[in-house]
Amino acid sequence: MVLLDGKKLSEEILNEITEEVKSIKAKGGKIPHLAAIIVGHDGASETYVNNKVKSCERVGFKSTHIKLPETCTEKELLDQVIAINNNPDIDGLIVQLPLPKHLSADKITHTILPEKDVDGFHPSNVGRMALGLPSYISATPNGVLEILERYKIPTEGKHCVVLGRSNIVGSPMSILMSKNTYPGNSTVTICHSKTSNLREITRQADILIVAIGKPEFVTADMVKDNAVVIDVGIHRIADASKKSGFRLIGDVKFDEVAAKASHITPVPGGVGLMTICSLLSNTLKASKKEIYG
Ligand code: NAP
Repeated sequence: MVLLDGKKLSEEILNEITEEVKSIKAKGGKIPHLAAIIVGHDGASETYVNNKVKSCERVGFKSTHIKLPETCTEKELLDQVIAINNNPDIDGLIVQLPLPKHLSADKITHTILPEKDVDGFHPSNVGRMALGLPSYISATPNGVLEILERYKIPTEGKHCVVLGRSNIVGSPMSILMSKNTYPGNSTVTICHSKTSNLREITRQADILIVAIGKPEFVTADMVKDNAVVIDVGIHRIADASKKSGFRLIGDVKFDEVAAKASHITPVPGGVGLMTICSLLSNTLKASKKEIYG
């Protein structure tokens, strides 16, 4: 079994980005600048945003971190987004989801300019991705593609089963794996909560990509021998033996599935770290105006 080591790959990618930023600086070019907005005090969201900001510092990007109270109005949040849209020094903007219930994630996401939408959630970017046009590909699916590519995993003609159809992971993942490119050219089946005979379908997967948000849902009996298993899920489980009071697990029951798989991503140390790399790569592209000119 080969462990698909997101930690090692993400180090590689962060080093590549750091070198590129150094060369941009040496030539007096524009330093990439990512802004992140977080609303409220959700522990997991705060950790994600802090990690994104730390990674910006690590590669030499500028970063702006805006924290708004849980009680902020939609107008206050939209005003921040619009101010960043109009700020020529800021190349990319992310608004950490989920948002408190009184704020419309769609309205906020759709207000971010497509050329600054480095999360790849704006309908323009999703549509362009689906049409195979240059776009910011949503960071998590892009991170999965990087893993497949950098580990040279064959995807052409393989049966790829994607578990989950969310707008940010499962749906774009299924489109990307069916594209006439590498990684891609797979025959894709997408499953969701209304799928019948789920186990029969997942057992046919040469490549199984799991993003259903249910801790350790995928067990060994759901996986074919020698399948490639990508676990997108992240869950905090209380663990008194840890200093933080919790540990992370995925959507896949790692130990028993790893015994059957040919390749598998761990949690932590798998897809999560690659997601941050994709975000930084998209920000670098935004600062170079690679996608929208
Ligand atoms: P989501 O929006 O909750 O979507 C979950 C999907 O799974 C839905 O399509 C749902 O079907 C399907 N599903 C739920 N229960 C199912 C069942 N019993 N059988 C079959 N399908 C089922 O979740 P998400 O945003 O895609 O995230 C999925 C997981 O990935 C979460 O653990 C999240 O924390 C993690 N995540 C990680 C990263 C990262 O950087 N690594 C990034 C994003 C998300 P319906 O559509 O029918 O409801």
